[in-house]
Amino acid sequence: MHLLDLDGTVRLWSPAAERLFGWSGEDVLGRRAPWATDARWALFRRHLEQASQGLEPPCLELELHRRDGTPLHVELWAASMPASTGPAQCMGMLVDVTERRRGEAHRRLLAEASEVLGASLEQDATLEHLVRLAVPGCADSCRVFLEDAPGEVRCVASAGLDAREPLDADVPCIPDEAAVSRIIASGRPALHAEPPSWLGVPLAWPGRKGAALVLTRAGRALDARDVALARELARRASPALEHASQYHEARQALRLREEFLAIASHELKSPISALQLQVQHLRTALERALDDVPRERLLRGLDLMGRQAKRQAKLIDALLDVSRIHAGRLELNPEPVDLGALVREVAERFEPEGAGAGTPLTLSLPREAHGHWDRLRLDQVLTNLVSNAMKYGRGGPVQVTLSSTEAHVRLDVRDAGIGIASEHLPRLFHRFERAVAGRDYHGVGLGLWIVREVVEAMGGHVTVRSELGVGSTFTVVLPRARG
Ligand code: ADP
Repeated sequence: MHLLDLDGTVRLWSPAAERLFGWSGEDVLGRRAPWATDARWALFRRHLEQASQGLEPPCLELELHRRDGTPLHVELWAASMPASTGPAQCMGMLVDVTERRRGEAHRRLLAEASEVLGASLEQDATLEHLVRLAVPGCADSCRVFLEDAPGEVRCVASAGLDAREPLDADVPCIPDEAAVSRIIASGRPALHAEPPSWLGVPLAWPGRKGAALVLTRAGRALDARDVALARELARRASPALEHASQYHEARQALRLREEFLAIASHELKSPISALQLQVQHLRTALERALDDVPRERLLRGLDLMGRQAKRQAKLIDALLDVSRIHAGRLELNPEPVDLGALVREVAERFEPEGAGAGTPLTLSLPREAHGHWDRLRLDQVLTNLVSNAMKYGRGGPVQVTLSSTEAHVRLDVRDAGIGIASEHLPRLFHRFERAVAGRDYHGVGLGLWIVREVVEAMGGHVTVRSELGVGSTFTVVLPRARG
């Protein structure tokens, strides 16, 4: 409550007004009311005059500032004071509606959030919508961080004053990466009230756990209500982000499937064409002069046909495995297996190919590597890894090393070939994934996927270490007991 002369001079300043604004009576008495700035003076004068004439002026709704600069929403009610002597005066009553307005703004924002967050099926666009919602109404800046590896966070969407911060190495990022990481790791919100005030809440959706939504504000300190708002925003964003990630995956799967169909039909067709050509050549040769066709020529032709048929059978087997694995029908028939002997057997099969390509295949085997496994499936794993090492090995040496402990055996297949770029490594064991162009190397991107499925079904795991242009090592670790 306060009492003003018609020129805005403060004559009475209640303790409640002091608490609300932070100015004491000493600061304001005898001076123009602090909120009656020149810019607003015309508005106030009209209001005061109306009040002094007993006209019941309408309530003014104002956005003012406290002494410390923080914003304040008030309703200003004014009434004339009967003045028997002296100049006319006005009594003013200010009602602090800051929290009410804030609540309304939060409700509006959440209603808007429900509308805009579902508007896009793209993750980036959804995150952009999310960060723009809170600025400038609730915060000066809003950002989304993703954490790819523990402690490695990156800003993927930002809006507001600090929008450039994460990109500018010289400007410290508020909060720092460690604080964002802590929010993600703990799954709990954090609130820093001291200026510059910030808060962070975890953001999660199925398929992505390491994310956080961060708000900063320089003026009024952020508080628990802002945290609740940010949590609600994050909660509402989650289904939209889930849809976006499902949509992305579905599109990715569709793209991969289309690529696979194109590659698979090419891979199925080319051995058949080669086979038909060979049959045709041999037939013509035999028709022309049966007795004159050299034996070597016949054998070479038949070998070639055999290889094409093998390539075809291999691809068909892989396709059958895909449907088996999908239908959960990958059955294992464990039996006692001497893995060292199996490695030797597989290596012998590759001898002609290795000799033809000038690729030395060396084995390093322990004295003993027995276990209980499905022999045929293990043969398939070895064959896939060794044939890849030959195929992508650029004719360099291929080394197969077997080692064993009491509980496990470990198989390393190392080549000195083309290697694999690091960005391809995370998806290498996925279905249809290839790190090379189809025109350079035959293949459909199923071998490693099948290797992983088989090895995991046996209770083991397969990993790869590789450097582009240097070579790759595929490692399979299997428990001896399970099969
Ligand atoms: P495919 O060889 O039929 O394409 P795979 O599933 O066996 O399918 O392998 C998937 C991809 O992994 C290959 O396309 C190739 O890019 C990469 N790859 C596999 N093994 C090696 C290796 N030893 N060296 C380099 N790249 C490899």
